[in-house]
Amino acid sequence: MRVTYKYKLYNSKKNKHLHQTITLAGRAYNHGIALHRRYYRLYDKHLNQYALMKHFTKLKKRPHYAWLNDIPSQALQEIAQRIDRGYRLFFRNLKAGIKTAPPLFKKTRKYKSYTLKQAGWKLLGDSRAQIGKRVYKMCRDRTLVGDVKTVTIKRDALYDLYLCFSVEVDDPKVRPTSGKMAGFDFGLKSFLTVHDGFESYEIASPELFKQSLKSVKALSRCLSRKAEGSNNRRKARARLARAHRAIANKRLGWFFKLSHDLTERYDYLFFETLNLKGMQRLWGRKVSDLAFGMFLNVLQYVANKKGKVVALIDPFFPSSRLCPHCGCINEHLELSDRRWRCPHCHEIIERDVAAALNILREGASSLGGGDVRPVLGQSLLMPESHAL
Ligand SMILES: [Zn+2]
Repeated sequence: MRVTYKYKLYNSKKNKHLHQTITLAGRAYNHGIALHRRYYRLYDKHLNQYALMKHFTKLKKRPHYAWLNDIPSQALQEIAQRIDRGYRLFFRNLKAGIKTAPPLFKKTRKYKSYTLKQAGWKLLGDSRAQIGKRVYKMCRDRTLVGDVKTVTIKRDALYDLYLCFSVEVDDPKVRPTSGKMAGFDFGLKSFLTVHDGFESYEIASPELFKQSLKSVKALSRCLSRKAEGSNNRRKARARLARAHRAIANKRLGWFFKLSHDLTERYDYLFFETLNLKGMQRLWGRKVSDLAFGMFLNVLQYVANKKGKVVALIDPFFPSSRLCPHCGCINEHLELSDRRWRCPHCHEIIERDVAAALNILREGASSLGGGDVRPVLGQSLLMPESHAL
């Protein structure tokens, strides 16, 4: 599985060189997008990454595009891949009838990162890394373990820089022994409802998020009152970005703590397959605030370290419509029905509790059968500063 280690760089005058490269990468990205559009208009065809890369190589020789030479060639290649990925996704969605925006131009000021593969970087001892010809100091708060596949140089909205090492780690060696398991249901009212087969309980989102959200609202109101292009506006924008980042960090901390608690308690943890698009349609914007997907990534990472199993059950399993007492399916259940009476056995059913129990049973029953899909193949990404 892929895991990302993210280390903040210490402030230094040297950092400006990294900023320059990121900005240039943004310029190259925009150039690629423009080229893509022109190509599409002329030939009605998608320009693939190899053709784009070839074009970049040609441009490098022209004096007007000499700045392309200041971008490491692997990074340039990765930009071509980014654009290619973006367009592929766009065309695939288009075919499936889903309307999404094609890859758009980005302000270079807001462009965030570039990526290196094997070349152009080096780890030096514990807390220093060489990027290009220069050595940078990073705040290394945890030890990097595993085989580094890529390094992404990233900046956030506050222009702080980070090095993100994407690492391939081995699958867990220790296998679970006690066999304790639980089913989990994500919810709007409480973050998670847990059922371990005997009893159920709820895990609420911590109050501190609500307080921080209030301050974010106040700060964004403040920003909207400042005159366009003024110094005060710039400062207000930085304050807002800082507040966003603080929330994202707090939330990530909470995810880690919760993941440690849960993996201490259980060996097998079953979840419903997230259908974020569907949830968003039903629940509105709030789903992205709750960041279920991010939590699952963190949990998977922690579980992997401890040799516990996080598994997703079949996305078509009717977890909340199934009566846990008699097994009949309530076709008429509405999202607003928090509690319902089974038409067959007449038991009163708490929706979230029943869902967690059903997920547990479904997960447990398919354990040896191969129906349960472990959450693998997703990389654990640390939050963007604009995770909200
Ligand atoms: Zn029933």
